Amino acid sequence: MKTNSSLTDTDLCVMCGMCLPQCPTYQLYQCETESPRGRLALMQAINQQRIEASAVTLLHIDHCLGCLNCETICPSRVPYGQLLDEFRDQFSSSIDKPLVSRQILAQSIKPNGLEKLASLADMPVLKQLNAFFKTVPQSHVEQLSANGPSELKNFYPSSTPSRGQVSLFTGCSGKATDLATIKDASVLLNRLGFDVSIAEQEYCCGAMHQHNGQQEMAQWLLEKNKAQFNELGSAAILFFSPACGASLELLTDIRIQDIRLFILNELQQHPLPFSTTNQPVALHESCSHRNMLKLKSLNTDLLKYIPGIQILESDQPYLCCGAGGLQSVNYPLQAHSILQQKLRSFDLLNTRVLLSDNIGCSLHIKSAISAYNPDIEILHPVSFLARQLVKLN
Ligand code: SF4
Ligand code: SF4
Repeated sequence: MKTNSSLTDTDLCVMCGMCLPQCPTYQLYQCETESPRGRLALMQAINQQRIEASAVTLLHIDHCLGCLNCETICPSRVPYGQLLDEFRDQFSSSIDKPLVSRQILAQSIKPNGLEKLASLADMPVLKQLNAFFKTVPQSHVEQLSANGPSELKNFYPSSTPSRGQVSLFTGCSGKATDLATIKDASVLLNRLGFDVSIAEQEYCCGAMHQHNGQQEMAQWLLEKNKAQFNELGSAAILFFSPACGASLELLTDIRIQDIRLFILNELQQHPLPFSTTNQPVALHESCSHRNMLKLKSLNTDLLKYIPGIQILESDQPYLCCGAGGLQSVNYPLQAHSILQQKLRSFDLLNTRVLLSDNIGCSLHIKSAISAYNPDIEILHPVSFLARQLVKLN
């Protein structure tokens, strides 16, 4: 996953400042060193050895959430994301990170690594780990799933004559944190005529490592996944999280697709009946959805298949929720402050459901949403769609 970019590309920045209003850390701290422009200037000065890479300077750069709002709006096409990854690859060992953050990175390179780590999260001594996973009792997980109890299986056969097999990519944490979505998606795909396979053991997509200064490890994980996908022999590998997808889609010789896009394309050819909903739903779209995959209307196009759907959007749709991959663990106060601003931008009292397309965002939002509406559920759009599917007799 090494890129062709070099820190010399920081020269591309013409200091116009158009990115500043779009930057969540600049909005929060209101200082230049917490802005895209300021971070580029710091990276450049360190690269040219005009200043030292002091702890304070590194901290300003490392506060970045990697939301890429700046890259999306930049008229000079500064490859900000690549520059940040490259900078962290060189300097991350000089930045202190909490034990939990280091453990998550270390464990996630093992098959189903975070599933094992999540099982430890109930230990009182690991409070921050618990906060990351927002451990929910299994009974609640079952409640969230529209489609049946029981443990996750490795194979769900089509409920109509099979049109082929697809595999779900659950990564290092899907089975531990988002079982309901995996099961609900399987039911929907079965009704569309697909057998669904789920690998017993899966590797992390590598996105966390890519964005936390471990590019070689990210490349290694990508190769591991490639070998596994080839063994599965499915017509397509479907991912849930746009952040995972942005990494996996680098495997261009394998059909890897966003599950929402796959289902949308199938529904256009093979419509299914969905029941009407009378309640508005809030929609949170992740930065990786908007700025990495760039599938802008995908969530709304998919949700339009539900009769009566009314979508409540944020007043600030481009504002990051503050999760930023591991940033909610690395800088919890910053993440919490940005999340408050994001949650205030929704009219959450008028809905019982908030849809979120990225599990990292969902876990982070769960940590604070009860103050805005204690009855609200957080679901993946595919899970909500599956709940509205008219059941077969
Ligand atoms: S928008 Fe681009 S060129 Fe302008 S200050 Fe930001 S990074 Fe630099
Ligand atoms: S990636 Fe997001 S948080 Fe980081 S500098 Fe750009 S806009 Fe700010």
